[in-house]
Amino acid sequence: MIIFDLTCSADHRFEGWFRSAEDFGQQEADGMVLCPYCGSHEVKRLPSAVHLASPTPAVGRPPESDPLAAARAFIEDMIRHSEDVGTAFADEARRIHYRESPERTIRGVATADDCAALQEEGIDVLRLPRPKKREELN
Ligand SMILES: [Zn+2]
Repeated sequence: MIIFDLTCSADHRFEGWFRSAEDFGQQEADGMVLCPYCGSHEVKRLPSAVHLASPTPAVGRPPESDPLAAARAFIEDMIRHSEDVGTAFADEARRIHYRESPERTIRGVATADDCAALQEEGIDVLRLPRPKKREELN
């Protein structure tokens, strides 16, 4: 699981997470990484965020017919198939990396410092917009 901080062209800040750097790169290239506040496709990683080992630059491809729905479906699918470890995310990611816990996809919360530390240990972490229902957006 990969986590990092994201920001959109309107300077909204949010977190996103992906299964791998490749997943993020693909979703970003497909225009499926969206700001949860305004739906902007112009999403980029914050300078202070974790640096990916193999960042994939966005390539301005046209968005899917309903990219917001597609992004939500993707995130919801990941939630269904991942284990919520909450604030234990950094510790559990580390245990999985060092094979002290079963390998699986996990999700949870982590600070930018946690992510940086994980990355320094060679553990890929990405952040994704949290799925929010339309009425929760502002
Ligand atoms: Zn925004």
